[in-house]
Parts: sequence; C-alpha cells; structure tokens
Amino acid sequence: MKKQQFQLPDGVIYLDGNSLGPLPVIATDRVASVMCQEWGQMLITGWNKAGWMNQPSKIGDRIGRLIGAPSGSVIMGDTLSIKVYQALASALRMVPDRKVVLSDSGNFPTDLYMAQGLISSLDQGHSLQIESPEDVAGALSEDIAVLMLTQVDYRTGRLHDMAALTKRAQALGVVVIWDLAHSAGALPVDLAGSNAEFAVGCTYKYLNGGPGAPAFIYVRSDLADQIEPALSGWLGHQAPFAFDLEYRPGVGIERMRVGTPPILQLAVLDAALDLWDDVDVNDLRARSINLTELFICEVEARCPDLTLASPRDPNKRGSQVSFHFSEGYAVMQALISRGVIGDFRAPDIMRFGFTPLYTEVSDVLGAVKILQDIMDRKSWDRPEFKQKSTVT
Ligand SMILES: *Cc1c(COP(=O)(O)O)cnc(C)c1O
Repeated sequence: MKKQQFQLPDGVIYLDGNSLGPLPVIATDRVASVMCQEWGQMLITGWNKAGWMNQPSKIGDRIGRLIGAPSGSVIMGDTLSIKVYQALASALRMVPDRKVVLSDSGNFPTDLYMAQGLISSLDQGHSLQIESPEDVAGALSEDIAVLMLTQVDYRTGRLHDMAALTKRAQALGVVVIWDLAHSAGALPVDLAGSNAEFAVGCTYKYLNGGPGAPAFIYVRSDLADQIEPALSGWLGHQAPFAFDLEYRPGVGIERMRVGTPPILQLAVLDAALDLWDDVDVNDLRARSINLTELFICEVEARCPDLTLASPRDPNKRGSQVSFHFSEGYAVMQALISRGVIGDFRAPDIMRFGFTPLYTEVSDVLGAVKILQDIMDRKSWDRPEFKQKSTVT
C-alpha cells in the first residue's frame, strides 16, 4: 500500500487510475533532474552520456517483469494506437494467405479503427470481423489470419482467458495479439507462458506514467528477428547512425522502435516503475479482488437502481467495476463534484477503477456513502451535471 507515494489531492477519492494513474511523488524530482542536469547541462551529449538512447529497452524490461515477458522482448515508444498498428501489420505478414482479422465488440475502438485503417491502406482484400466477446472462441477457424483482443474490456472489466484463447487460436494457425492496456499493473499476466506472438499496452493507466506516456510492444523472442516492421523508422534500423539510404531492420525487438523517444515522459515512467520494484503482482491481485468485491456488495445493498455491468465472478473481471444507470453521466458528474472521481462510458456505464497500490477499503466505503446520498436525494438531477464535456 503506497498511497503516500502518490500526489492525491485532499478530499479526493480517486477511482480512475485505470484511465489515468496519479502522479508518483518521486516523478517530479526525477523529471526536474533529467531536465536540468541532463538536458540542461549535457545538451545533445545526453543521448550517450545519460543513456537516453537505451531508455526504451531498459524500461521495456522493467515492464516485462510485470507482464511475464523475458528481458529483451518489450520495447517502449509512441502511443498504443501506433503499437497496435505495428503489431497487426507484422502479424498479417506472417500469414499472407489469410485475410480475416478477428476481434470483439469489447475491444477499445482505437484498436478497431487502426485495424480498419491498416486494412484499407494494404488494399489486399483483408477484412475485420467483430464478434461479441462470448462468441470469439467459436468464430476461430483456419480462415482467420490474426486474433486481436484486449484482455480486459474497458467498459465492463470482463476478462478474457488469455491462455485458453491463444492456445485455441494457434492450434488453427492464427497469429495472436493481446492488448494489455487494462491488464499491465492490474493483474498477473503470463505473456511468455501464453505463447502469444504479440502484445501491446499503455503505461498511463495502472502504471502511472502520466498523460501521453509511451506505450509498449512485445514480440515473442523466437519471432523478433523475423518479423517485418511496417513502420520502418530510423531508430528501428540496424545502424541508425550509418545513415544508409536502404532500411534494414534492427536486431530483435529494437526493430519495433520508430523515431526519437520521449525522454522526459520516459523519465516519469521510470520513476513510476520504481514503485513496482517490490510489488508482488499476485498479492496486488488479491487486494484488488477484495476491493472490487466490497464495492459491488456495498453498492448493491445501498443503491438498488444501479445494475452491475461487470462479471460477478472476480476471476472473470479485471480491476474495475462498472454499473449501468440510465442517468449514469449525471450521477458521475455529481460524484466528481463531491470528490469521488470515476468516469463514464457511453451509453450508460459508470466506471470505477480499483488500483490497490493506493486505493484502500476506506476509499471504497467513502465513495459508496457519497454515491448512496446522491442516488437517495436524486441530487444528480441538475442541468449542470448533464452538460457533456469533451472527455467523459
Ligand atoms: C487506453 C486504450 C488505448 C489508448 O490508445 P492511445 O493510442 O494510447 O490513445 C488503446 N487501446 C486500449 C485497449 C485502451 O484501453
């Protein structure tokens, strides 16, 4: 339990760390030091002297520890949307005779949009097949090229069985990509054990890397030297500083780099990852389940108008809990006005993230008490709570 190590404003119960983690206290000094001592003093020599160029792979290894990936199989850079594109493009090249990308309606829209954009620029007759999460396993066949799923549904928290789906897909010759956006730092992941070819994820949610923190991509070690990168940027080149006119992919996972890494944002992430060094992810999962079970039990006892949108079985959900309510947007705004921060996902889902690094039982009880008060008095029913903002 590391609440003191995060900057959480007084009077706030933060249940949105699944969307944007809070600021780790040590990150402020770390960034100031990278800015002043490194950038300020070393100028361009920082790329060598301060080791900036290796940060994407060094930090990739730190993330690898949290997702069951061996050293040298994860690299940082760009946003998750870009990493989805890269993984899918390389995956499709591994199975040139197949044309169908299979995903589900629980996937985060950007993953689907990136697939649609890639398919249309490839212009080779590919298509995207979107099934409901329960129907994915049954839709697998030898016609499918790639299975691309997000393990934890961003709306409901429903958790896919990564090992079982991967096994079933691979038995049919399907290449598998997992998006771990809501898994990394939320629950134990055994990526290498699952045998999946690719995985991607972001670092500003449970990993607290800050708004716009770079994403990660994983490629199974035996494939890393064979895959063809679609975004053949100079930093994924075998010898970027040879300035050849011809692209040659870099060694292993290095080829999934694209351009210049965001050093200041990586400094935040590196500091944020210090907080994970002594964390046992199984232990964290046990605490996450305690918190979500308590929240569901309390909300159902006190707020009968809300209906559970998340799986009731804790082994079938991630580290968030969602409830349906027709006026969910207004209720969430009323909650936020009273310091309980969750978020809303259309059409009617109120979403609460439980991040056991800094969320405790008293937060759960405090949040439910305020929620009950808002529901009992209908204090959400005010025009200002129904005004939609850009980010919900
Ligand atoms: C949060 C999230 C994203 C966000 O993508 P960005 O490119 O980082 O904005 C993408 N996919 C999933 C599954 C997510 O949960």
